[in-house]
Amino acid sequence: MKSNNDVIIVGGGIIGLACAHYLIKKDISVRIIEQDYIGSGASHGNCGLLYFSGIIPLCSPGVVRHEIYRTICGNSPLYVKPTLDVTLLKWLLKFVAHCNSAHMNIASKAKNDILQYSLSLYNILFSEEVLQCDFEKKGMLLLFKDEKKFEQYKSTNAFLQDYDLGAESLDKDQAIKLEPAVRESIAGAWYNKHDWHLRPETLVDSWKNLLIKNGVTIEEKCKMIDFEIKDNKIKHVNTVRDQYKADAFILTTGAWSSGVNQQLKLNIPVQPGKGYSITMEKPDQSPQIPCMLYERDMVVTPWKTGYRLGGTMEFSGFNDTLNKKRLSKLVMGVQEYLNTKADYPILEQWSGLRPMTYDDLPIIGRSPLQDNLFVATGHGMLGLTMATGTGKAVCDMICEGKAQIELAPFSMDRF
Ligand SMILES: Cc1cc2nc3c(=O)[nH]c(=O)nc-3n(C[C@H](O)[C@H](O)[C@H](O)COP(=O)(O)OP(=O)(O)OC[C@H]3O[C@@H](n4cnc5c(N)ncnc54)[C@H](O)[C@@H]3O)c2cc1C
Repeated sequence: MKSNNDVIIVGGGIIGLACAHYLIKKDISVRIIEQDYIGSGASHGNCGLLYFSGIIPLCSPGVVRHEIYRTICGNSPLYVKPTLDVTLLKWLLKFVAHCNSAHMNIASKAKNDILQYSLSLYNILFSEEVLQCDFEKKGMLLLFKDEKKFEQYKSTNAFLQDYDLGAESLDKDQAIKLEPAVRESIAGAWYNKHDWHLRPETLVDSWKNLLIKNGVTIEEKCKMIDFEIKDNKIKHVNTVRDQYKADAFILTTGAWSSGVNQQLKLNIPVQPGKGYSITMEKPDQSPQIPCMLYERDMVVTPWKTGYRLGGTMEFSGFNDTLNKKRLSKLVMGVQEYLNTKADYPILEQWSGLRPMTYDDLPIIGRSPLQDNLFVATGHGMLGLTMATGTGKAVCDMICEGKAQIELAPFSMDRF
């Protein structure tokens, strides 16, 4: 048995790192247990957007019809592998049941609260610490090829305006003036200045180094097997290497989080939502502003040190195979919207598993069954963006008994 820690964090992705950051600042001793290496999950090759305007949940009215139409046309970024997996089928049915305006309103408000909280904490983080991650506040350009869809976005923008997150409408010429990499063939763009971006894998690396410097212990290649429980309290965690004892435990295992359901008798309905990215050297005609390609549902993120295309959402269980067709769709997508070459020397082709909940809200809170277990998972498409708010909220729950933001919408009791 390894020596006692105040807190053990199981899962070394961006959420685990953020929790460790706020805890160590309070002089809490922290150990992170990671099955592979820090940042080997979804936090590595994602698109790097701090997408604070992304408050509208994935399950919103009309989504199902829209995706069926795009699947028939062969251009849907969504893929559900035919399956007899009852848990996934039930999850999908619950997702469909949440595609209504009542849920959209509730979820948007909750997401906005944690996103704005995360924004203010990112500002503090980057003013206090030196973290190498190509961080920039340049907004995000939403590009449309279809005139009708460009016009229809007005109503979405009106919804965002109610949260002071509205974008500016640009016709084709205005869009090209702002971002010369944009193609003549686009219909128009919406420019949202509220979003920022950074390079996620370098953030993870430099945050890990900072945490080690500040005293956090990191155990890599140390898969958690199960917990030892007594009187509704976790006593220690069993791993492939050792047993580790602590006063409190935080579960930040991302897409793998439902793995504890059986042993802990919990309901953590997280499914892996697979996405892909291609990272290249920065081409000459690279955009300077991150671009979201609306009809393709994909993102192009430029950094000083490189350039990444990312997207797609595949429900096909736990696998990390690289589907060539999906990767080539990313390259084709760029060529439809940007003059940028997409065949530059490729540095990395990657897939990662987003931790998806069927109501598209994260799960942040104390376990209803184990007094000293806290859960922070299910951040879906926005885990990087919500990391600081989540880490601080979990730290405050452990140290002060209460977070500074309302966590009821994120409680496990809702399932
Ligand atoms: C293509 C793509 C693009 C994206 N773009 C963006 C974006 O632009 N902006 C944004 O905000 N979000 C984005 N996301 C989502 C974001 O990447 C995730 O929400 C976020 O990384 C989740 O962080 P996490 O720490 O919960 O999970 P992860 O990073 O997956 O970390 C979980 C960790 O737990 C470990 N683990 C699991 N089981 C065990 C165990 N038994 N024992 C020990 N360790 C264990 C895993 O190895 C992993 O390292 C994107 C995702 C994808 C796939």
